[in-house]
Amino acid sequence: MELPFSESYKIKMIEPIRKSSREERERWIKEAKYNLFNLRSDQVFIDLLTDSGTGAMSDRQWAAMMLGDESYAGASSYYNLKNAIKNILGFEYFLPTHQGRAAENVLFSALVKDGDVVPGNSHFDTTKGHIEFRKAKAIDCTIDEAFDTTLDHPFKGNIDLNKLEHILLTNPKEKIPMIIVTVTCNTSGGQPVSMQNLKDVYSMAQKYGVRVIFDSARFAENAYFIKVREEGYADKSIKQIVKEMYNYADGMTMSSKKDAIVNMGGFIALKEEELFKKASQYNIIFEGFITYGGMSGRDMNALAQGLDEGTEFDYLETRIKQVEYLGNQLIEYGITIQQPIGGHAIFIDAKKFLPQIPKEEYVAQTLAIELYKEAGIRGVEIGTLLADRDPDTRENRYPVLEMVRLAIPRRTYTNNHMDVIAAALKNVFDRRNEIKNGYQIISEAPIMRHFTVELAPAVKTSASL
Ligand SMILES: *Cc1c(COP(=O)(O)O)cnc(C)c1O
Repeated sequence: MELPFSESYKIKMIEPIRKSSREERERWIKEAKYNLFNLRSDQVFIDLLTDSGTGAMSDRQWAAMMLGDESYAGASSYYNLKNAIKNILGFEYFLPTHQGRAAENVLFSALVKDGDVVPGNSHFDTTKGHIEFRKAKAIDCTIDEAFDTTLDHPFKGNIDLNKLEHILLTNPKEKIPMIIVTVTCNTSGGQPVSMQNLKDVYSMAQKYGVRVIFDSARFAENAYFIKVREEGYADKSIKQIVKEMYNYADGMTMSSKKDAIVNMGGFIALKEEELFKKASQYNIIFEGFITYGGMSGRDMNALAQGLDEGTEFDYLETRIKQVEYLGNQLIEYGITIQQPIGGHAIFIDAKKFLPQIPKEEYVAQTLAIELYKEAGIRGVEIGTLLADRDPDTRENRYPVLEMVRLAIPRRTYTNNHMDVIAAALKNVFDRRNEIKNGYQIISEAPIMRHFTVELAPAVKTSASL
């Protein structure tokens, strides 16, 4: 008999979580104004709000923390991290920062100016925010296949070379401070970029004299997908693939809260000394001296160890198979999710789940609330609330896709938890026709409203009855 798949680790420390009753959850979500961000974590049984900073560290990471050197300048922890970045990613220069968006803030302060254009594959929201804040433009050059959820394509994070070349041809190179390749591409659902595409983008960039920066939060999951999906990589180790990926980049920004499996931290890594010196000035102003940059020594030690563990095949296989395990159950139950299943999360198509809820009543949010009421599971709306209002007309922007994202924290939940999530969703799916009402907004902030929006059950006007 073939042995079934199982986790590549055992559990040494546990954190209790508490089940609640449906009555409690109905009261709590009402008190939270139907906004899942307002729930206290002890009101949640399984928390799938994000996989950012929510992973479990290993015994070796905790041991590394005890050896943290808190010297202001030249700490041994800084050198541990510098060595890990050199050995695993191949970069000579690096700057620690407190998280990923801080790395963007520092690097873009040195690179991006008013009127610039920054092409890439569906820039992450903070990345886009830091580009637009500097009055530059983020231009999406992702392949068209990425936007069809049911289409099977192994590398939906790929950049369309024709779209990219058009930008490079129609703008002077002084106006293009960099091309940003996000690996994996979060915005299109944790979809990977192929090695061939990374290679092609880099050679095109060199031809036009433009640098390439990888937004690297989930670089190790990207390497895993290259290994299992791209021809010629099956026999290479994740670390060999990672090294090769970074041959095709001039630099990187990193949110260490994702694939480096720490709770807080980030960094910039670069090949160019001149750019490193320029960025160092901003690091000192915004983050801290260049040998700690907003991180404590113990956290840099845990991060150095996390980079090593996060680029091990057995760990990545455990993680990605767990996400697949959940996704496959949902597919079996007839629930439409984005395919192929990405590395870090399941995206449920809420319009297909609740077709009777009008778009004005926030379909994905309605589904996320139902899932919470059913079993205390917290996902997040990727839909109209997140898409926000048009800045000029102040009308709601209705995105093509209304999704509920279930992000799976690293090494945190077992497959029994995945079974609970799947069963809870099936229960909601089985009674979906009884869900007749969505929600309406009571109050909202002028920007980034989804974090603080207050909702109430929608009241149908006589016209809509
Ligand atoms: C999370 C993330 C960021 C921002 O990092 P923070 O640590 O949350 O500040 C940037 N880019 C990508 C692709 C990310 O996933």
